[in-house]
Amino acid sequence: MITRRQSVAAVVGGVKVGGGAPIVVQSMTNTDTADVESTVAQVRSLARAGSELVRVTVNTEEAAAAVPHIRERLDRESVKVPLIGDFHFNGHKLLKAHPACAEALAKYRINPGNVGRGSKRDPQFAEMIEVACQYKKPIRIGVNWGSLDSELLTRMMDENNSLPNPRTANEVMRSAVVESCLQSARRAEELGQPHDAIVLSAKVSGVQDLIAIYSDLASRCDYPLHVGLTEAGMGSKGIVASTAGIGVLLQRGIGDTIRVSLTPEPNGDRTQEVIVAQEILQTMGLRSFVPMVIACPGCGRTTSTYFQELAKSIQSHIRHRMPEWRKSYEGVEMMNVAVMGCVVNGPGESKHANIGISLPGTGERPVAPVYEDGEKTVTLKGDHIAEEFQQLVEAYVARKYPRRETASASQN
Ligand code: SF4
Repeated sequence: MITRRQSVAAVVGGVKVGGGAPIVVQSMTNTDTADVESTVAQVRSLARAGSELVRVTVNTEEAAAAVPHIRERLDRESVKVPLIGDFHFNGHKLLKAHPACAEALAKYRINPGNVGRGSKRDPQFAEMIEVACQYKKPIRIGVNWGSLDSELLTRMMDENNSLPNPRTANEVMRSAVVESCLQSARRAEELGQPHDAIVLSAKVSGVQDLIAIYSDLASRCDYPLHVGLTEAGMGSKGIVASTAGIGVLLQRGIGDTIRVSLTPEPNGDRTQEVIVAQEILQTMGLRSFVPMVIACPGCGRTTSTYFQELAKSIQSHIRHRMPEWRKSYEGVEMMNVAVMGCVVNGPGESKHANIGISLPGTGERPVAPVYEDGEKTVTLKGDHIAEEFQQLVEAYVARKYPRRETASASQN
């Protein structure tokens, strides 16, 4: 049982972040925001994959001008996902010059390290907060160690060097990241931003740094926390690093919204970061999004590819059917489906799942017993085991997860 850290709730375009609300999955586009067509297409696909907030970069006049059109197009398609604007260097100018952009965005991400240098920093930060207050928008103070406020870091390093027992440079860097977040949040409040309209993030690319920094941050404030590694990397490296870092923090009750920052393969699918984020939360028992397919890894007892093909086809069938199932069936995302390769663990694991199949391993009788709610219901054989099992899954879903209104309506 995970005890969540207590935080205030910030409401981002109708989505509650913190305050005990379910942990929100978010993502970010990698299209040129000025290109309305491709940004709308990517936001749509991220939202359909389950992203509950989507961030877009707002880096130029053209991007800022495009934001209201993107919002309008999405609204017309009934894609209601809130859009967050990611601002660096010129955010104060863009927000002031493009009121429709300021209005269309549900939250502004402000990086205190990139808001302006020297004497320009404070007034430019203040200008962004002024706009947030004017449009009643929450903000995220998003510190990133790659763009950490250099003046703050230098000052903290100098102070550290004058101590009799100075800390390591890495320890000072961790403290500087936390300080940058907390000082900026305090300043935003002094400028009028409400306490419950501030989310914090402190992103780094090392897992141990991430855990240390967020643990410190979590103990020193009650702002909702956006958790994620920055520059997590590509493929399995990015997935493993994000899962390790985010997983440890979630286990400690830290994290109100998560983003998995994966570098996509060239022309790769951006929605992978949404799926990984959902799978982290679901695997940890924090939220359910799609039915889980429990499949054994296979071994020398499964010498054909039949078993892998069935596991894959069931997994894709479920992902493909989920948008429809979500509308028609209630609680279907909690279902577990087992696809097991042989008789060693097959029947046992299948009995623990809602519905499971134990395929014949090498040398076993070519039959596949199916279990529903722990009881063996049917034994499949022949050339159409995959299709027949799929139909059994469909029938199980229809029988076990009727929407309550539908169920009571059909009884009346
Ligand atoms: S269930 Fe059978 S096929 Fe799967 S890993 Fe275990 S022994 Fe191997």
